[in-house]
Amino acid sequence: MSRTLQEVAAVASTCTLCRLSSGRTQVVFGDGSPTADLMFIGEGPGYHEDVQGLPFVGAAGQLLNRLLGEIGLRREDVFVANVIKCRPPGNRDPLPDEIEACTPYLREQISLIDPRVVVTLGNFATRFILERQVAISRVRGQKHTWDGRIVIPTFHPAAALRGGGDASPTMTALREDFALIKTVLDQAPSPAPVEEQLGLF
Ligand code: URA
Repeated sequence: MSRTLQEVAAVASTCTLCRLSSGRTQVVFGDGSPTADLMFIGEGPGYHEDVQGLPFVGAAGQLLNRLLGEIGLRREDVFVANVIKCRPPGNRDPLPDEIEACTPYLREQISLIDPRVVVTLGNFATRFILERQVAISRVRGQKHTWDGRIVIPTFHPAAALRGGGDASPTMTALREDFALIKTVLDQAPSPAPVEEQLGLF
């Protein structure tokens, strides 16, 4: 029998599978609706997330909340997680062995939450999910298919904060991509294959 999301969170909360465990204040497992249709994946916790134990609670998180509000969604309607669950020292990029140690948690989260739509925020999460060294600027704003789900890559909100704020091209692109997210969510899910409906597999 598979574990519940709470059970996975409890295991992750004391994880020592990689060196990041020694520098963290707490594990940032992710939060939101455990049955969300829409899941966001960021890179990893920063200073504020490490202190509070919650993802996207700093400036980038405020912007994420605003963009969600603009398409009529609240944070509690979605699930938000990161590729890695512990803050790297000085917010450096995670190392390959740290990612390898951590991502079974993310894979289990995705499988348990079972979202119809996954939005990857920035290069890091996009490359991890699409398993290709793509540039976010080339793949953003398009629907990709992965693991039977729709994946929509977009810029990391921090990029918009760095890139000139509300009137910047990055912000315009983020707004376009959030409009696409809404369109996709509003579309009825495609029906399950007949065999599945009949319980044949
Ligand atoms: N940036 C991320 O990628 N994740 C967070 O949780 C916060 C900032």
